[in-house]
Amino acid sequence: MKKYDAVIIGSGPAGLTAALYLLRARRKVLIIEKLTPGGQVLLTERIENYPGFPEGIAGFELVDAFVKQVEGYAPEKLTGEVREIKVGQTDHVVQLTDEQEIKARVIIIASGARWRRLGAPGEVEFTGKGVSYCAVCDGNFFKDQVVVCIGGGDTALEESLYLAKIAKKVYLIHRRDKFRGTKIYQEKVFAHPKIEIIWDSVVKEFKGQDFLSAVRIKNLKTGEEQDLSVNGAFVFVGMDPNTDFVPPQIKLDARGFIVTNDEMRTEVPGIFAAGDVRVKSCRQVATAVGDGACAGYNASIYLEQLNE
Ligand code: NAP
Repeated sequence: MKKYDAVIIGSGPAGLTAALYLLRARRKVLIIEKLTPGGQVLLTERIENYPGFPEGIAGFELVDAFVKQVEGYAPEKLTGEVREIKVGQTDHVVQLTDEQEIKARVIIIASGARWRRLGAPGEVEFTGKGVSYCAVCDGNFFKDQVVVCIGGGDTALEESLYLAKIAKKVYLIHRRDKFRGTKIYQEKVFAHPKIEIIWDSVVKEFKGQDFLSAVRIKNLKTGEEQDLSVNGAFVFVGMDPNTDFVPPQIKLDARGFIVTNDEMRTEVPGIFAAGDVRVKSCRQVATAVGDGACAGYNASIYLEQLNE
């Protein structure tokens, strides 16, 4: 079985930064990624709040720069999906397939989070046929058409603005009468001529024949229901953590996010968590990078304390 000082699960900003710190501490590091490096940032058209880029930077460009910097230290990389972590005394085991097991003194879980489904009838049926969770991936299918975005957080606001550059009209449906997203995005949304906000409302059903053609919406204050004709619907109602493989010894909160202390340590010695997968109040590229640095730094100290 191959053995590493540290195995990092996930190569978004948190995982890549943790790798950078451990590699610079001259540790033997393996980075495991399911598909391609970058995580959610890759799906973001433009990032305007990562310091150092006054004009903003495209998500993929920022990822390219992160990857290039880490690759300068020649980490080992593996593409695959982690199935299980087996907790040991000093060595833990990361299992990918029946045959593929990897030993590690330290594991850093930086597996991120995925878009949450709304759970309304028709949502699953029309996913890929009008229902989407990624404006950058699917927005261009709706050029000069009518789309609806659902949600009131940063993602819903940012992605509505992105879609308004492509679509003829964007409805933005939110279940309350106030957004929770950042004020600067709110101001842009309020000022945008193509965006119409529908407050206090929820989507009850996604409707259509072969392809989505309408959403049934309900006003929660009046109880009134109506069909809104749309070509596409983008669901942005938050995130669920990627923690299916996390062992029961690691504490999760009620929503399944990993509980860490401020050194990014979980309750299991040698296992750390960083980025969107852990319990935190602010999920940003900047805070993911901070988590990654903290996890990489404290993992190095942990390895030193083992006299290794
Ligand atoms: P979020 O902040 O959790 O917001 C989710 C939104 O969906 C909320 O407005 C919520 O309504 C609504 N919602 C949740 N469940 C719903 C349901 N069943 N039906 C209808 N509406 C529902 O999620 P997010 O916007 O994806 O952002 C996730 C994290 O990433 C946040 O920390 C965010 O700041 C960060 N982020 C940052 C940026 C940026 O800074 N550029 C961009 C994207 C995301 P309520 O408001 O009523 O709860």
